[in-house]
Amino acid sequence: MELKICHMYPDVLNLYGDGGNIISLSRRLRWRGIGAEITKLPIGSSASLADFDLVFIGGGQDFEQQVLLEDLHRGKDREIRAAIADGLPFLTICGGYQMLGHYYETYDGKRCDFIGALDLYTKGSQRRMIGNYAFRCGEEAGGSVVVGFENHSGKTWLGRGVQPLGRVLAGFGNNGEDGTEGVHYKNVFGSYSHGPMLPKNPAFCDRLLSVALERKYGRCELEPLDDAAEIAAHDEMCARLGV
Ligand code: GLN
Repeated sequence: MELKICHMYPDVLNLYGDGGNIISLSRRLRWRGIGAEITKLPIGSSASLADFDLVFIGGGQDFEQQVLLEDLHRGKDREIRAAIADGLPFLTICGGYQMLGHYYETYDGKRCDFIGALDLYTKGSQRRMIGNYAFRCGEEAGGSVVVGFENHSGKTWLGRGVQPLGRVLAGFGNNGEDGTEGVHYKNVFGSYSHGPMLPKNPAFCDRLLSVALERKYGRCELEPLDDAAEIAAHDEMCARLGV
């Protein structure tokens, strides 16, 4: 067994250790004897997303989001929309998560028209939402408690066509107002969680791997791993946040 993982825009969308998610995904596969092939898709490159089993997109500041717009609208937008409709699993973080929605309008009025693959939009606010935070995933996303680090000015609002990834336990999440965090639509998981997200949230990482493996191979039981260090890091942050 093997998963072909695409790391999209590693050159511009990679904040607060986001690339560590790729390490987590590949190590947790290889520790179980499952192959992991990583392909980087920087600005200017093209590839058919149908050749992959999982796509990861990290976060970036407003500047980087504007830099990649031209490339995004030169065909990757269509590729991403088709792949999502086809059930390809995605993990997208912060700026990469915002990018799948309709648009992002910065606080000072600059507008990035994104790809509308997901029914959500983002508007910049004067007050940045920064800090360690925690949320509980919905049942369909595995129900685990995720800890992470958020730093965004954008407030994301979900439309009727999508559901949140989880509910905020501490911190801000999507907008600091409605208690939602991230998005879950088909096999797309979007979150504000940098940190990186996956190393200290092994239950969520395995959920994502299971979704990708089941889509490719049918039913799959992931062998348990010794997660003592990962769980200690996770629980320490929960204790600090009081959740
Ligand atoms: N530029 C976006 C915002 O501030 C995304 C930031 C990020 O990816 N951390 O809302």
